[in-house]
Amino acid sequence: MATSVESSAPAREKYEPVIGLEVHVQLLTATKIFCSCSTRFGAPPNSNVCPVCLGLPGALPVLNRKAVEFATLAAMALNCEIRETSIFARKNYFYPDLPKGYQISQYDKPLAEHGFIEIQTASGAKKIGITRVHLEEDAGKSLHEGFAGASETTAIDLNRSGVPLIEIVSEPDIATSDEAYEYLTRLKEIILYTGVSDCNMEEGSLRCDANVSVRPRGEKKFGTKTEVKNVNSFRFIREAIEYEIERQVEVIESGGKITQETRLYNSVEGKTYGMRSKEQAHDYRYFPEPDLLPLVVDEKWRAEIRSTLPELPEARRKRMMADYGISAGAAYTLTLTKALADQFESAAKAAKNPNRVANLIQSELIGRLKAKGLEIEQSPISMKGLAMAADLVESDAISGKMLKDLFDLCFERGKDFPDVYEEEGRPEQSRDTSSLEKIIDEVIAANPKQVEQYRAGKKTVAAFFVGQVMRQSKGQANPQLVNELVAKKLA
Ligand code: ADP
Ligand code: MG
Ligand code: ZN
Repeated sequence: MATSVESSAPAREKYEPVIGLEVHVQLLTATKIFCSCSTRFGAPPNSNVCPVCLGLPGALPVLNRKAVEFATLAAMALNCEIRETSIFARKNYFYPDLPKGYQISQYDKPLAEHGFIEIQTASGAKKIGITRVHLEEDAGKSLHEGFAGASETTAIDLNRSGVPLIEIVSEPDIATSDEAYEYLTRLKEIILYTGVSDCNMEEGSLRCDANVSVRPRGEKKFGTKTEVKNVNSFRFIREAIEYEIERQVEVIESGGKITQETRLYNSVEGKTYGMRSKEQAHDYRYFPEPDLLPLVVDEKWRAEIRSTLPELPEARRKRMMADYGISAGAAYTLTLTKALADQFESAAKAAKNPNRVANLIQSELIGRLKAKGLEIEQSPISMKGLAMAADLVESDAISGKMLKDLFDLCFERGKDFPDVYEEEGRPEQSRDTSSLEKIIDEVIAANPKQVEQYRAGKKTVAAFFVGQVMRQSKGQANPQLVNELVAKKLA
């Protein structure tokens, strides 16, 4: 079905999208959730397997304590209530990469519920509800080899079978593809801060399914949704949702009906394709897992886990804005990763004036990074180097202009500030009054009209002279000193 943005744009205004996301995150445990096989990515196929994760008869699962702690920590970071007693359940379906014929998951009594993530939208902050966070095991992986004829085979790799996952299900609170993108960005950032996953999308450590429906604006009832699966970047998820909204509006506008189904996104064509009609929960014949006890995370354990919760990005941004007087934009940049924020704060605290470090990032670093297309993690100037530069300006050893020149050299040479500062022979701004006085005399002689104004009482003209002198000294002069000397000469 061909759709185009142009033809459906007016029709689209009549409809309101409703979006809910299901995100699977792989936990960074060393071993699998119900056996002691390694979770290492990239091992030879079927080398990290045992009777439990191969689903051999008689093998019994034993729950990995670390997986529970990681899942609970993530759920806490997502503002969820932790259920004291949660229940593992069997989700039954047939698939070649699922040797037991069921996946151990959680169903009506999940580990955690009622959370939220705050996102920023054009019209302010918005809370996206999190319905649930539950623990489950991953399935294996089917590898389709060869494309046509007799050589076509499907190989199964069960290394991933039994790797611990959490599934994070959002409420259908997301209203645009941009909000979905923002939600995923915040979600990933929070999970990374907790350290329970590396959220590596290429390795499948973070996977997202997008549920999308549309309804006429003002309508209370939800429309029929489709679920877009297997999208492997946030940008593609945004595109897939956008496409799906357009497609659904077009189907409805031309008198058709949306069928509840799973769709695949083809990122080359920018289109989704129907894959299979969606299973209903009752198709899975969920029932409590008889081989595992109820999972109890009691108050004491919850408190222990909570005590390991780090300061989370949103809170950290707010605190850093208050502590260092930086803008929201700078706070976002500096909290992009926990490591970066830690580096910044330790450098800023060690510097003579923490605010100056923060301000240098905004005024001198970010623009230079942008011009070179670099992320802040790739900056040639480290946070330590930045703190050193800030200290040199703070103590008047170098001028602002000199700092700019040194920063330019850092970017040209791809070297950190302390190295370039050494290479340049530890430059110092001029405190040589005799040469400065000579410049001032020249400037005064060249501008008799301004001298007259100054002497007639217009003291603000002094700034004009200071500016002229600074320019002639190519920014090398100490502004403080120039101020003093100009005032003396003019008097
Ligand atoms: P299913 O049983 O099909 O998996 P769920 O009720 O578990 O459906 O919801 C799965 C996801 O779909 C959740 O993120 C939820 O917010 C979202 N969702 C539910 N109904 C709709 C809808 N009509 N339109 C868009 N998203 C929806
Ligand atoms: Mg579901
Ligand atoms: Zn195993």
